[in-house]
Formats: sequence, structure tokens, C-alpha cells
Amino acid sequence: MKHTRQGPLPTPLVGDASQLAEWAFAACPGKGLNYPELSQWVFGHPPEQWLVGCWRKAYVGFSSDPAVRRAGASAGVITQTLMHLLETGKVAGAVVVKQGSPKPWEAEPIIATTPKQVMECTQSVYVPVPVNTILAEMERFQGRLAYVGLPDQVASLRRLQQLGHPGALRVDYVLGPYCGMAMYQKAIESFLRANGVKRIEDVAELRYREGEWPGYLQVKTHSGKVLRAAKFYYNYLIPFYVTRSTLYSVDFTNELTDISVGDAWHPKYEKEGKGFSVVLARTAKGEQLLNEMQTQRLVELDEASLQEAMSMHGHMLDFKKRGAFIRMGWRRRMGKRVPDYGYKPVRIAPSRRLAEAVIYTVFLVCGSRVARRLVEFVPLSVLGPMFNVLRKSWKNMSKPTKRAGLRDYRVQTWPGRKVIATPEGGKSAR
Ligand SMILES: Cc1cc2nc3c(=O)[nH]c(=O)nc-3n(C[C@H](O)[C@H](O)[C@H](O)COP(=O)(O)OP(=O)(O)OC[C@H]3O[C@@H](n4cnc5c(N)ncnc54)[C@H](O)[C@@H]3O)c2cc1C
Repeated sequence: MKHTRQGPLPTPLVGDASQLAEWAFAACPGKGLNYPELSQWVFGHPPEQWLVGCWRKAYVGFSSDPAVRRAGASAGVITQTLMHLLETGKVAGAVVVKQGSPKPWEAEPIIATTPKQVMECTQSVYVPVPVNTILAEMERFQGRLAYVGLPDQVASLRRLQQLGHPGALRVDYVLGPYCGMAMYQKAIESFLRANGVKRIEDVAELRYREGEWPGYLQVKTHSGKVLRAAKFYYNYLIPFYVTRSTLYSVDFTNELTDISVGDAWHPKYEKEGKGFSVVLARTAKGEQLLNEMQTQRLVELDEASLQEAMSMHGHMLDFKKRGAFIRMGWRRRMGKRVPDYGYKPVRIAPSRRLAEAVIYTVFLVCGSRVARRLVEFVPLSVLGPMFNVLRKSWKNMSKPTKRAGLRDYRVQTWPGRKVIATPEGGKSAR
């Protein structure tokens, strides 16, 4: 991948004659994967609630181990679950993302085989990490696996399982963070420049959710400089560097996992600090695992209604479940290809389309070369609070329009591509 102004782009290897496996295309989430059919395949039925996908139980909670809770992005529930799976021998390895490898500012997927290794892979990485490049290693791995991935990666993994990919079939437990927006690596470079660090090579350590929840971005440089920006302040980078796939992704809560975990954004929990997660058990296996951990006092979970869980993320659900479809519609009208997810909302009100025009204009303006350059001259002490106020004001202003449309969200679905056998014994999609 080559890092460009438009984000990382695949570049052909000179002189490499290797063929891309057929299932690489069949399971590519960039072209969209059929969610109704994948839900049917994973859960045995389509979602009852299309805003969050199939679910059995919702909770708010945290890891009972204060060190894990603090180390985690929101409350360490994913990390605690992986450690439990390894300690009880339910899996022999866990696919996770290691920040700081191969370069201090990069992240790569690894198969962690000890709780210590899992602990070294806590927190969220807000720039894209190509998790599924580890599939070949998963295929060679001796033993069963747990897997952590973002919604598009999980959808891809599920499609590969459906197609019979040997690496994907090693996975018994699929966990996933909610995912609102990811940023290009250029966002970090911009943040560094704005704070007097000229080259990304000067970074010695980078953590996206350091410290107590909600945490802060922390960069340490080789010269000993330490930069910090509170989570809600460095969010200002998002409109300038949001990834294109984020804008066209319709899955916020990681709908095809066994267990999905997000931040429990609610004034009650935010006031208390320390870390709270919202947790969705989607499969019987996921629910059983959480029950077992709760009985053993590894996690503290309070059951919540789905309504309560959804109310913590009303804006992001709307951003994905209506906003993304509006944005894809505009892109299609410009003659460009868009992902096909096998469903779309039956109706979106004109007022919501208008709100999207405002949001999209902000992304367009902020994504321009001039705006990206200018923002680096504004100190974070001004930018952070200003962005936070603007974000909150916009949320309050657009709340009635957004909430109204989500109340009776209905979708139209259609079938995906057929799965057929290939001569190599695998399966492919046409
Ligand atoms: C790009 C991104 C956007 C997000 N947006 C939102 C949001 O809008 N709202 C919200 O409520 N929550 C969001 N989350 C989820 C949230 O930040 C936490 O990851 C989640 O609450 C789980 O917390 P935890 O303490 O249980 O995770 P931890 O115990 O810290 O474990 C996190 C796990 O996620 C894996 N991981 C981290 N980053 C990546 C990545 N880029 N790709 C694949 N795997 C990764 C790690 O390897 C680790 O195993 C986002 C996460 C990411 C990575």
C-alpha cells in the first residue's frame, strides 16, 4: 500500500506474477457483502432490528480487573474475554492488532497466544489496519482461534467461513469493536506537524486511548517530547482525514460478531469515568461466554435494554443507517461504483437528506488540501474545545430529525451473488 493524499492505495508489485485467490474478491468488503444473507448464515435468521443487527442480550459493563479496565479502549471487555478464552483453553490463539509494529506509528495483526500478548494489544487503533492479511498464518496455526476485527473485516471473515476458507474456519469466537469512523495515517502526520514534530519517523510510541477513559492520544518522540490530546479534542482530525470506506460503511455495531463492544457514551457513565462499555451478545455462544465470565467475576455486566444501548449511539447509527445510504446514492448518480450490502432503507425523509448535505459539505471542505494545511496553524487548545462545542451543538440541533427517522427504520432486501464450487475444491461467488 502506498500512502497518498487520498489515503493508502494498492500498488502493483513490479514483476510479480502471483494470482489473487478468487475468494479475495468474493470476500472483499469494499464492494459490499450481502448482510441479510450473512446474517441468515451466521444467526439462522435475518436481523429483527436492522439498526444493530441480530442480538440476544445487551449490557453495560467493564472488566473486573482494574488494570485491564484501564488498559482497554473503553473498559477492557474485549481484552478480558480473549484472556479468558486463552486461559480456559477454548482457543489457542487470538487474532489481534499490535500497535507500534512494524514501525512505532504503525499497527499490524498478530496471533497472540498468551494473556500477556493480548494485554499488549489493548486499545483502539483509529487508522486502518489490514487485519485479514493474516489469513495465511491463521491457516497454518495449530489450534482454534478467536478473532477481533472491525465490521468490514468481520463481514469478510464470515464470508470466507461461508465459502470454506481453511484459515477463516479456524475461528470459533468473533469479537469486534463498534466502528464509527477511521482516519487516514495522514491525520497523525498532520497532528505531529501542528505540534512541531516534522517527520513521522520521529515517533517512538503512539497510543490512541492512553490513560483513564475516555483517554487521550499520546505520542512520544525519540527526542523525549510527549504530545497529548484528549479523545474528544483530537476528534477534530476526523472531518479532515476520515477514510472513504468509513463514509460508505453501513455497519456501526459490528453486526456479524458473537460479541460486539463499544463505548458506553452516557452522561451517567462519563461522569463516573474509569471506563464503561456497551456490550451486545449476538450468538448463544457469545451470551454463554459472557455469563461464564460474569459468574467467575471476570467482568461486571448490567443487563440493559436494546433501547438504552442504542440511545448511546443514536447519531452514529443514523450516520451509518441513513447517512451512508444517502452518500452512496449521490456517488452512484455521479456514475461511480458503490458497495452493495443487499439492503437499503425503504424511505429517507427529505429533511434528513438536507442534513446530510450539510455534513457532507463539511467533509468535502475539510478534506481539501487548503483546509488540511490551514488547520495545522490553529493550536489544539483552541481547536479541541471549538470542535467539541460545534459537535455537541450540531448533535443537539439535528437530534429531532435523526431520531424521528430511526424509530420506524425499515429496509428492502435483495439476494447476493451465488456461491458455486470451484475446480480447486474451494467455493467462489459469481
Ligand atoms: C476505528 C475505530 C472506530 C471506533 N469507533 C467507535 C465509535 O464511534 N463509537 C464507539 O462506541 N466505539 C467505537 N470504537 C470502539 C471502541 O473504541 C473500543 O474499541 C470498544 O469499546 C472496545 O473497548 P474494549 O476496552 O473492550 O477494547 P480493548 O480491550 O482495548 O480491545 C480492543 C481490541 O480491538 C482490537 N483493535 C483495535 N483497533 C483495531 C483496528 N483498527 N482493527 C482491528 N482490530 C482493532 C485490538 O487488537 C484489541 O484486541 C471504535 C474502534 C475503532 C478501532
